[in-house]
Amino acid sequence: MPAEHYHSGSNPDLGFGDLKKMTESEKTSQKDNLTEISREILALKNKHHATILAHNYQIPEVQDIADFVGDSLELSRVASRLDTEVIIFCGVDFMAETAAILSPQKKVILPEKSAWCPMAHMITADQLRDLKRLYPEAAVVCYVNSTAEIKAESDICCTSANGLQVANSLSEKQIIFVPDRNLAAYIARHTDKTIIPWDGYCYVHDRFTAQEVLAARAEHPSAEVLVHPECRPDVIDLADFVCSTSGMSRHAKASAAREFIIGTEAGMVYRLKKENPEKQFYPLSKNAICKNMKKTDLTKVLRALQILQPRVTVPEDIALRAKKAIERMLDVKI
Ligand code: SF4
Repeated sequence: MPAEHYHSGSNPDLGFGDLKKMTESEKTSQKDNLTEISREILALKNKHHATILAHNYQIPEVQDIADFVGDSLELSRVASRLDTEVIIFCGVDFMAETAAILSPQKKVILPEKSAWCPMAHMITADQLRDLKRLYPEAAVVCYVNSTAEIKAESDICCTSANGLQVANSLSEKQIIFVPDRNLAAYIARHTDKTIIPWDGYCYVHDRFTAQEVLAARAEHPSAEVLVHPECRPDVIDLADFVCSTSGMSRHAKASAAREFIIGTEAGMVYRLKKENPEKQFYPLSKNAICKNMKKTDLTKVLRALQILQPRVTVPEDIALRAKKAIERMLDVKI
């Protein structure tokens, strides 16, 4: 896999250009095809002056009702710029937390309270503080897929799109990287910094195997293979492109290829098909399902709008420090 594909492109993931925003024709068609529950959701959404955000891995019905579909940081950034008081964040806990950190004055609601990211919880703030004591000279970079406490203990955040640029922007030679060991390994292969990884991982991406890539290529020989940097190194080595979900969306639109094998959570295929109806997309594995991402459905979105709960808040002292790490990342030029 050529490294330049990871960080090339004129439209980095932090831009709003990659968000899937509902078009006027989609809104009209949505009005025509509304189910009873969708009608109730839209009525309450208008009543509360709310915006519904959905992550790329959400189920199709939730993506279809959302005002914006994108990756976690894009959605948090759009949340901070919206002129709405209520944000219904259809995703997992750390995403809603990030939105609350960037927009403390807004009500951020996570429709399913138990939707959490196992990887984000693989390291605690105490464990990170111990690591910092072991490597006092090192800077701390945390992937945005982390808890607010971990962000607050970090010097800077990064996304799956800008990890290399963030690492290279630091003056320190040593970097503690948490929580994803695979993203850490990917960055370590392309920087001359010493990366000290935490042993966390996303179980959805870590389960892809090189054999699956070879089998998918044999089945679809004309397809390009796109994989997420949370995959293991041996899977990344067999891919044509390594990119975040936003990068996949950009690449699929721009590429002359007609077929793509998608090495990320299978929900991403729905968005890619919708954006590129003339092209074919195959999940690298149909079993690549994040259980927590699938916990949110329309019933829960409706309930969240009815009671404006469960609200996600972050204690002010943690939020202020976490926000600094996020904002420092946003200043890095990519
Ligand atoms: S796909 Fe992986 S990183 Fe994303 S929420 Fe699920 S477990 Fe966490």
